[in-house]
Amino acid sequence: MGEEKRKYFMVKIKESTQVDLKKELHKNFGFDSFKGDQEKIIQSILSGNDTFVIMPTGGGKSLCYQLPALIQEGVAIIVSPLIALMKNQVDLLRSYSDIENVAHFLNSSLNKGQIKKVKEDLVKGKTKMLYVAPETLTKEENVDFLKEIKISFFAVDEAHCISEWGHDFRPEYRKIRDIVNEINPSLSVIALTATATPKVQDDIIKNLVLVKPNIFVSSFNRSNLYYEIVPKGKKDQTVKHIVKFIHQNRGKSGIIYTLNRKTTEDLAEVLKANGISAVAYHAGLDGKLRAERQDQFLMEKVDVIVATIAFGMGIDKPDIRFVIHYNIPKSIENYYQETGRAGRDGLEGKCLLYFSYKDVQKLEHLMRDKPLTEREMGGQLISETVAYAESAICRRKVLLHYFGEEYKEDTCNEMCDNCRHPKEKIEVKDTVFTALETIKQVKEMFGVDYIINVILGRMNTQIQAYKHDKLKCFSMGAHFQMDDHFWNSLLRQMMVEGLIRKDIEEYGLLKLTDKGKAFLKKPYSLKLSLNHKFEDAEGDDDDVSGPQGSNGSAALDPTLLNMLKDLRKQVAAQHKLQPWIIFMENSLEEMATTYPTSLKELENISGVSKGKALKFGKKFVELIAQYVEEK
Ligand code: ADP
Ligand code: MG
Ligand code: ZN
Repeated sequence: MGEEKRKYFMVKIKESTQVDLKKELHKNFGFDSFKGDQEKIIQSILSGNDTFVIMPTGGGKSLCYQLPALIQEGVAIIVSPLIALMKNQVDLLRSYSDIENVAHFLNSSLNKGQIKKVKEDLVKGKTKMLYVAPETLTKEENVDFLKEIKISFFAVDEAHCISEWGHDFRPEYRKIRDIVNEINPSLSVIALTATATPKVQDDIIKNLVLVKPNIFVSSFNRSNLYYEIVPKGKKDQTVKHIVKFIHQNRGKSGIIYTLNRKTTEDLAEVLKANGISAVAYHAGLDGKLRAERQDQFLMEKVDVIVATIAFGMGIDKPDIRFVIHYNIPKSIENYYQETGRAGRDGLEGKCLLYFSYKDVQKLEHLMRDKPLTEREMGGQLISETVAYAESAICRRKVLLHYFGEEYKEDTCNEMCDNCRHPKEKIEVKDTVFTALETIKQVKEMFGVDYIINVILGRMNTQIQAYKHDKLKCFSMGAHFQMDDHFWNSLLRQMMVEGLIRKDIEEYGLLKLTDKGKAFLKKPYSLKLSLNHKFEDAEGDDDDVSGPQGSNGSAALDPTLLNMLKDLRKQVAAQHKLQPWIIFMENSLEEMATTYPTSLKELENISGVSKGKALKFGKKFVELIAQYVEEK
């Protein structure tokens, strides 16, 4: 029965795919072109297919369901995990639209009267999108209500919340399929996530029971983010370095992550003493103060928030311009997530990580009371992060490799420190051969440390037990007179080059790949750059990071841009909205470049829909007109 209904549904929707999607995009959002796979995804939804979208943060996932929701008959139900996110999305949709009730949310923040009002709008068919919290969706009265209204499709945003393997598991997310079936099993479901882990992706498809879904996987490369690792010197030097960096990025929003609560407070104080507007944020503060400080940051009353990782979940401020890690994060996944909060709008995002071995020890020390397996697991994650920091090849290559993606370019055009200051490469044909031969001779049954001991001919009880000192490869690499650091680094690069792989499921045993086997048969010349070796001493204080003016188009008028930003802040405060909901940074930059002085001209700015221009535009064009005249 469900199948049959679905077919009918598909035919019916097909007719409406005749709509000109580009035109709809421009009309509803003021954008001229789709980003990445957006158009294909939208077509998939419009033709009634289950759809699974895997796209990194800032990729533009929301629009994938928002546009079809606006086009189709009925209301789209969007499951979203956090009240703050729902509110922002609804605010944003209303800012674009000339229909005030185009979007609503239902969650525990509403009182009875407000809920009644929302339901009335839904019954009248005014509303195109309804955001719901999973807990709200599963309430019987709401299920009964939703059975009675016309629904276009279901969207499950932040779908990784379904999985226990994900970073923010929400048990209620697991009930979504049952609820959909109860409301109407023929409804199509679209799931969206930025999770790169295959395990979590599997979980999502299985748990939502997506039927022959169209799956869209984007690259996880965040091309607008600049990555740099800075050797961490003495404390006052590091702080000086940070202060200098922020001064060079004055007025921009940024996050500094630290390992512990006290450091957030201390660092925020130092920054303030240096004339930087900053607040500290951590889970130890009482709820009211936390909300207040988060609000200050979101409303742009302060530029910098110094926080533990308690901060960030549910923060969708699109114009965060830098993320600094004052300490090494506990995994690459964390690092990617946390740095990922920079530059969601596609503009500049600088990511600095201050690295020292002392911090690594601190991190390991924090796990001392955990059960053994957890400690081992945690230790492995930390050592991956250390390897990332030490690596001298393109940061993107290493990051993407970690997520199972190959970054094919040789360099990323100076968008990471290693590509900006490339390290010399050395010939490694013979050492690579030695490593491969050793891995082969011990039958691919051992991990990195063991392999290095065999290569260097270092006896221990385990080697003795396996009689590996009798193998030809034992001590085969000693004559190169290289230390552990060298071999570690070499094995690491060999993984990235695809000569060997680490079997994570099997305790990190090193295995030969086909490419590795081919190399053994017929070795060839190979040049690699070896890892950095950090000294826990003084850092180079002069080289404060970042590519210079990556977005600085020549015609942009910085004075006007600042005036527009100030105006945006005022208007935002009046409307009790976050500034980026009024106009995005990209839009302001374009205004400060093309000087629109009428509402009609303002509509030509990317990201400015007609509704937005009418709602907020007047003061902005007036300001620009006055500015132009005075000039
Ligand atoms: P995600 O949910 O994937 O992290 P968002 O939906 O929040 O990403 O979108 C990220 C940013 O991209 C937003 O600032 C949004 O306005 C912008 N964006 C989305 N689609 C387009 C487009 N087609 N053209 C220009 N900007 C877009
Ligand atoms: Mg999103
Ligand atoms: Zn690079």
